[in-house]
Amino acid sequence: IFGPGRPNSRGVNLNVRSQYQPLMDEMAASMEKEHRVGPLLAFEVADDPASQHAVASPYDRRKRVGIVQWTSAEQAARAVDAAWAAFPRWESTPVAERAAIVRRLGDLMEAHMAELMTLCSREGGKLLTDGVDEIKEAVDFCRYYAMKAEELFGQPITLPGPTGESNQLMLAGKGVFAAISPWNFPVAIFCGQVVAAAVAGNTVLAKPAEQTSIVAHRVIELLYEAGMPRDVVQLLPGDGPTVGSVLTSDPRITGVVFTGGTDTAQIINRALAAREGAALPTLIAETGGMNAMIVDSTALPEQVVADVIQSAFQSAGQRCSALRVLYLQEEVADRVIEILEGAMNELRVADPRDLGTDVGPVIDEDARRGLGAHIERLKAEGRLVAETRLDPRLTGDGTFVAPVAFEIDGIEALEREQFGPILHIVRYRASEIDRVIESINGRGYGLTFGVHSRNESFADEIAQKIRVGNVYVNRNIIGAVVGVQPFGGQGLSGTGPKAGGPHYLLRFATEKTVTVNT
Ligand code: NAD
Repeated sequence: IFGPGRPNSRGVNLNVRSQYQPLMDEMAASMEKEHRVGPLLAFEVADDPASQHAVASPYDRRKRVGIVQWTSAEQAARAVDAAWAAFPRWESTPVAERAAIVRRLGDLMEAHMAELMTLCSREGGKLLTDGVDEIKEAVDFCRYYAMKAEELFGQPITLPGPTGESNQLMLAGKGVFAAISPWNFPVAIFCGQVVAAAVAGNTVLAKPAEQTSIVAHRVIELLYEAGMPRDVVQLLPGDGPTVGSVLTSDPRITGVVFTGGTDTAQIINRALAAREGAALPTLIAETGGMNAMIVDSTALPEQVVADVIQSAFQSAGQRCSALRVLYLQEEVADRVIEILEGAMNELRVADPRDLGTDVGPVIDEDARRGLGAHIERLKAEGRLVAETRLDPRLTGDGTFVAPVAFEIDGIEALEREQFGPILHIVRYRASEIDRVIESINGRGYGLTFGVHSRNESFADEIAQKIRVGNVYVNRNIIGAVVGVQPFGGQGLSGTGPKAGGPHYLLRFATEKTVTVNT
């Protein structure tokens, strides 16, 4: 359906084999390598077998990707000392120099595309096509934030001097930032947070997700190769609550840039607020979503289904932007569901390294168990609409979940974000549209949203009324492009500013006005 080697939704044949074969040949070299990684700090860290954790591949739990040594609470505290000490030096480094390092990281990641994609696949269970998009997005973040930093931090802004004084407004780094990231974009989000904070003049303590620390480690090695000093950006792989509580309770942490679950963001917010005597911190949090799409009776059912399949099931539904609740006007509901069922029967759930695979595994056994409990509950309530077949010969020992669709009564029926390939469908009557919008807004999340309609004024009106960060009309709702579709939500979905947007770096900066009596 959206897998490589078949026409995509715009009818273009991707001719993936010729496009990907050279990369695959390069990837073969790093496919079996077993990695041993650990914290990358401003000081040496001794080997400690007691804090080493094995990482297995989501598509085959018997395959070990490597061993990760986690950061202890004491090491995290020492890392804060080093970041605090390095800040004045880094902050006074010219922005052109900071930007040059970040640009070089972009070039290096591009040059190491095959190696990084292999790790995204082995550690994060990513499809090769998703891996290419992911690395390209990370490279885009480097180039975009480097350009924006030079624009914003390069020259002070001269302001009017009506009283005869001269006034200048300048931007500078704030201090030490903790950058805490999720596993689902282990290169793009991880790298975007780190380079934004660093290029703005902050020192950075980067805490990658437990599941994907190996690829994060490789990115930071490349960042050092690009010229980043080791005390300016440090890597602290490890347990979220252990490393997180050191970072979020230290009064010298000026800001936290976080992407992950809404519950975790709330824990971090409380920890920051509880610090005695600390400066008021900056919290940038990009969190979960309960993303909806409204389809009216004028929409083209075939296009709707192509976009729904991509939005709900690409990356096994493990995108914060993924579609969770599809509202179908009753006149078209049966037709859309019929085509959707046919399309879901065609999806191939298998090893993500195989070019014919549409849907890879979910990240780990905990995720499979959680999604499985939700699926069993809705099945027991008799709400199943369609389910892709799992072939045990293709899924073996991996943590796979078959794409599945259920009918529910409304978005209120969902207690929490289900971060996997589960689509919920709600039928509505045209007269109920205001109530539908109210209930989507009332649920409190506000990340992505889609509308499919050939009635322009209907689509415009809904786009106006819906309270989310990213609205998509007559297309899928995933895959925001850096610098083109700045990404991020509101309400329970995050604080903003939008990643990949013109205002992002401003939140990492402090403003100073200098007035001179001339
Ligand atoms: P998570 O909240 O479990 O973990 C995110 C990070 O927080 C990890 O590095 C984890 O170790 C760390 N962490 C855990 N407990 C902590 C604590 N007490 N203090 C400090 N750090 C702590 O999220 P996840 O499962 O890795 O990612 C999936 C979630 O991320 C989904 O909810 C998804 O919607 C969201 N997400 C949002 C966006 C966005 O841009 N809005 C993008 C990607 C993912």
